[in-house]
Amino acid sequence: MKTNSANNGSLAVIIVVSALLGAFISWSAPGIDQYIRDRMIRARGPLPPPDDIAIVAIDEQSIARFGRFPWSRALSARAIDATAAGQPKAIALDVLYADPTSEPDDSALSRSIHQAGNVVVAAQLIAATPAGGAANWLMPLPAVEHAAATVGHVNVSTGSDGIARQILVNMADDQGHAIGAMAVEAIRVGDGIPEQAITETSREVLLGSHVIPLEGDVSSAVVGIHGGTTQAIPAARMTIDYIGPPGSYKSYSFADVVDGRIPAAQLRNKYVLIGATAASLGDRLASPFIHTASSGPNQHGSLMPGVEILANTINTILRSRYYSETPGWLAFLCGALVAALTLFALSAAQGRFEGIKQIGALAAVIAMVLLAGYFWFTRLLVFPPLTLSLVSFASAGLLGELRRSFVASAQLDSAIEDIRRAESSLSATNMGSAAQSIAQLANADGVAIYTSQLGGRMRLVTEHGIRILQKGPAGFLLPAQSAEKDLLAIPIERPNATVTLVIAHPAGRPPWLEVQRLCAAIAVSAAETWADKEKLSRWWWPRGLTWKAQSLHYLNSRILDRAKFVDLALRSVEDVLLIAGVDGRITFANPRAVAVLDSPELALRGRDLLEVLAEAEQRSPGSPRESLVRLVVDRAKVEREVTIPGMHPRHFMLRMAAVRSGEDGPGSVLGIVASLSDITRQHELQQTKNDVMALVSHEMRTPLTAIQGMSELLAQFDLDPERAHVMSAAIHDEAKRLTRMISQYLDITRLESGATVLRRSAVRIEAMVERTLLMLDPLAAARGIRLIRNLGFATSPVLADADLLSSAVSNLVSNAIKYSPRDSEAVVSAKNTGNGVSIEIADQGYGIPEDSLKHIFEKFYRVPRVEDVDVPGTGLGLALVREIAELHGGSVAVRSSVGSGSVFTLWVPCSEGQA
Ligand code: ADP
Repeated sequence: MKTNSANNGSLAVIIVVSALLGAFISWSAPGIDQYIRDRMIRARGPLPPPDDIAIVAIDEQSIARFGRFPWSRALSARAIDATAAGQPKAIALDVLYADPTSEPDDSALSRSIHQAGNVVVAAQLIAATPAGGAANWLMPLPAVEHAAATVGHVNVSTGSDGIARQILVNMADDQGHAIGAMAVEAIRVGDGIPEQAITETSREVLLGSHVIPLEGDVSSAVVGIHGGTTQAIPAARMTIDYIGPPGSYKSYSFADVVDGRIPAAQLRNKYVLIGATAASLGDRLASPFIHTASSGPNQHGSLMPGVEILANTINTILRSRYYSETPGWLAFLCGALVAALTLFALSAAQGRFEGIKQIGALAAVIAMVLLAGYFWFTRLLVFPPLTLSLVSFASAGLLGELRRSFVASAQLDSAIEDIRRAESSLSATNMGSAAQSIAQLANADGVAIYTSQLGGRMRLVTEHGIRILQKGPAGFLLPAQSAEKDLLAIPIERPNATVTLVIAHPAGRPPWLEVQRLCAAIAVSAAETWADKEKLSRWWWPRGLTWKAQSLHYLNSRILDRAKFVDLALRSVEDVLLIAGVDGRITFANPRAVAVLDSPELALRGRDLLEVLAEAEQRSPGSPRESLVRLVVDRAKVEREVTIPGMHPRHFMLRMAAVRSGEDGPGSVLGIVASLSDITRQHELQQTKNDVMALVSHEMRTPLTAIQGMSELLAQFDLDPERAHVMSAAIHDEAKRLTRMISQYLDITRLESGATVLRRSAVRIEAMVERTLLMLDPLAAARGIRLIRNLGFATSPVLADADLLSSAVSNLVSNAIKYSPRDSEAVVSAKNTGNGVSIEIADQGYGIPEDSLKHIFEKFYRVPRVEDVDVPGTGLGLALVREIAELHGGSVAVRSSVGSGSVFTLWVPCSEGQA
């Protein structure tokens, strides 16, 4: 909040300062404003010429016709006569007749002027010297003055750049003799307004229906002394609006008028201005159109003849084309607005491609200002405060960027500081401990780690134990008193530095090579951490934005490296590791989790952790919300065994706990971390123990008891030979059963533990099965079972351990024989399926009840069945078959229905890897 208001404050200051600067510059350098106005007038372009103003031009053509100037005044008289014949509104004679010439000429002129009756003659205020001094009127000859309707002054005020922009409505000489401007007088005469009817206020001059607004500081008056009294005439100015470059007005050649080539009607009801336009006659001034390249045929260079300036002045009054100034307060407001707009544009145009965006935004603001100014100027006839606005724009742009860079700099500083703190709290490497560890590992008395940048001098990173002195670029020395020690220097080249590890060890007993390598790795890690710290150690030193950005970048990359390291470390954890947010959604799953949960990491991400775990255990998720509450709110830890079912059920220890922001103590909960440690092995060991217990306590006890009982009887009593024979046969059977049980059990255990190595070779299944069946034929015959071979089809050879495979088949076939009634069949067939071969043993035996099927492959399991009463068994055969099948990457399956028989299918892949 505070920074926000400080921000806004600084923006407001920039806006005000920019507007003030604009106001100051436009006030102190009015020329800029003038220049801009001229440009805008030129940009506006010429306007169509009015049809009530005509110029009779003393042009080059007239000079060619009547010879060099001055001409006889009789010529002027003829021109006036010809003009007057057209009955113009008024004739403004923009020629000075101050000096007398020949009497007949002068009086001819006076006569013509008098006859016309509406002629305004020119007077000019002239300073005594070019540098100024007393000003006096250059008045027309008294005869001419009297004949004329009135006298008007033809003085034009030029700016410091020589451009004629204004006229003084009234001018007075030092004696206070005031004369009105010729344009004003011509209109007055043309409209037949008496001199007294002109009213003048400090703001405007009322001339009949025309209002001339006055400009400038009216209080600055021209003071004159008239007839002994001091008189102040206001220096009221009006601005001329030029309709175009020279030649814009309808103009007739003086020669044509004198020669009567212009129809009188052309001049009717017009203000006719007679004056010089020929370049050789001078009387030219610069107009705002001075820069316009002359292209029309009627253009005489770029300076404008006085008579055209007069025409423009008259037109300005007639059309009321007065430009007004923007009021000061409004101008200031505009400046402030432009500054605000500039700041806004700069702050909006950030992000990618910032340079281009910023330039574009600034260009847009400039275009807006110029367009608004142009509209303002051409439509509303108001001079826009462009200088002020442009200066304000530039200033706001500069100050805004400056401010932005300050703000960015300050933000970078604080960001650097934050990351530095975080980084140093994370980095645990202690320089001193590195040297100490090396000393311990290498059994050294002194250790020093040096580093040198490419070509740079060696610098000590850390040391421990005896002081090792550095001499020269790569030489090291021990202090004199440490005799019986040797020095070992190990230089390690790194991409941008050389790290040198120096070890002082007991003479003649350097550390082993392996230890040296380990020490070198520790030294490099320490040196690199040291170098990183070095780079940033003087972070407070005044540095530029670029440096700050670079350090930030560097710090950032270090943090990223660390994050990557931690990520990799988590990924390489052997346990299943799942990290979830406070909402229980998984955000991280390591490769082991992916493997155990059998779901890609991306699919796991975003899923509910508790749901995923429940799903893996194949149990209903219960109430995951409740568990989440217990974890996150109560911060209870979960620790329990879970079993992930499958072909090989796996057992894990699940540990779940909340991750808290503080190391200990309350701290807010950031997420949940769950780990699953595989305890299948322990489980198996436990299972084996249980099996052994079962084997010894149940399975072995019965035969052993029988053997013991019968052998006791045999030993103690002298039994008749027949009974003794039966008994010893029974003892033999029990012993055989025991032996088989033990050897089968050991076989399984060896297979399970991985102690048995498969001796794979290419096995032709038909041949192998045939051999096995040959051995079982006697048993089958004894029990009245027909063994039918269905092995005619050539199956692919498989890579397998022939002995194990044969023992599996033998188990299955002997089961088919054992668990079938007399006079039934057992069909053994083999065929290619998938990428392997399946061997099928189908019998017409008792079959296996539904609920026994799932236990059939478990160790020691036997179907509880009266028919099996005479069948000796261990319940280990099928467990062994399954173990053999799985070791080969294959499987064993059973289909069975009670009373009609069972089908066991053993499948082995052709070669492992294709399974
Ligand atoms: P054993 O045959 O030594 O008892 P096994 O593991 O080979 O041990 O068999 C386990 C049990 O499965 C047997 O006790 C038997 O009840 C049942 N069984 C096995 N094969 C068949 C079969 N082909 N038909 C019916 N029952 C069978």
